[in-house]
Amino acid sequence: MPSLPSVAERFVRYVRIDTQSDPDSAATPSTEKQKDLSRLLERELQALDIEAGMDGFGYVYARLPSTLDPETAARTPVLGLVAHVDTSPDEPGGPVRPLVHENYQGGVIALADGVTLDPTRQPALLDHLGHDLITSDGTTLLGSDDKAGVAVIMQLAEDLRDDPAPRPELRLLFTVDEEIGRGVDRLDVERFGADAAYTVDGGAVGEISAETFNAAEATVTVEGVTVHPGYAKGVLVNAVTVLAEFIGGLPADEAPDTTEQREGYFYPHTISPGGTGRAAVKILLRDFADEGMARRKAFIQNLADEVAARHPGATIRVAFEDSYRNMLRYIEETDARTVGFAVAAARAVGIEPVLKLVRGGTDGARLSERGIPTPNLFTGGHDFHSRFEWNTVQNLQSTLEYVKALVRHWGEHGRR
Ligand SMILES: [Zn+2]
Repeated sequence: MPSLPSVAERFVRYVRIDTQSDPDSAATPSTEKQKDLSRLLERELQALDIEAGMDGFGYVYARLPSTLDPETAARTPVLGLVAHVDTSPDEPGGPVRPLVHENYQGGVIALADGVTLDPTRQPALLDHLGHDLITSDGTTLLGSDDKAGVAVIMQLAEDLRDDPAPRPELRLLFTVDEEIGRGVDRLDVERFGADAAYTVDGGAVGEISAETFNAAEATVTVEGVTVHPGYAKGVLVNAVTVLAEFIGGLPADEAPDTTEQREGYFYPHTISPGGTGRAAVKILLRDFADEGMARRKAFIQNLADEVAARHPGATIRVAFEDSYRNMLRYIEETDARTVGFAVAAARAVGIEPVLKLVRGGTDGARLSERGIPTPNLFTGGHDFHSRFEWNTVQNLQSTLEYVKALVRHWGEHGRR
């Protein structure tokens, strides 16, 4: 292993620690081994004389005081930086043996088990000629998602500890079980104490995400009339066929497999129960716009009414449950500067910002909903949750430089 700059040295040290989460466990953390990294982070922060503590769930909370004069500090939001210690359960999670491939020149990199990094399949590699690539040995994922965010925040803490440059009070937070959708379930929001925050958990350098889907689920239930099929003429109303007709009425060009970018969709994903007397389907509705979500709900209701009208004797019930809302709404209602500052800080360090839509939910969306506006920032990582996942030494350094600039931007401009 070549000698590495400190943020990359931290990164390769942290990825070696297996912190894979487990969706089949109901405990928090879902796997005790996540605490192996949490405990190390707590120890390393305390060794730097930074106030830090791990709770019983494996969350690590830390704080760095502001360098601003007390009056300005009091009027500047307390800023949170968040990363998750766990890695995805989708691929083997450990032991991770990180490899550094110096001065990448654009070819195919062969790892173990026939796993390759191949620019024809992963074109982003070609934007990184001359970089020092970091991968696993091919037998596991790398875990740049989100050890990159962890390493960047930890290095930032060390570098800023004695740095007099303007900064608001910082709250650092390392969460568990993000990959299984429970990253903020057990979060002590009071203890976190941030007024605005960022998750450092994104992709390509420059990408900033402040928009997620609006998400709801529709349950459409058909009640039929059952009778012996041999003597059913004019009597049977088959809930299975009526439900099939309903599902067939969903627009094929508004499905997950036919949409991208800002387009929303209908996603029928589970049929249960599925009998002739009663059959039901669950449909995910996704749309970035509030009006779009309203339109989708109306579409489902109208389709149900139309199908029911064609089948006297059948009853069709429709129920909606809202899951989460586009986080941009909450960000704009609390502190929209989180987005503008993230963009400005990128330009300040010569990185072209790209506002990217998240076609899903994030922990930041749930924090935003709870009153802490939390866009997501890039980490330089690519091809998450795979054995050909990669990041680069240079991307880690760029991310660190960027997050420092963002903290400074809040120090200089964050006063209300
Ligand atoms: Zn992540």
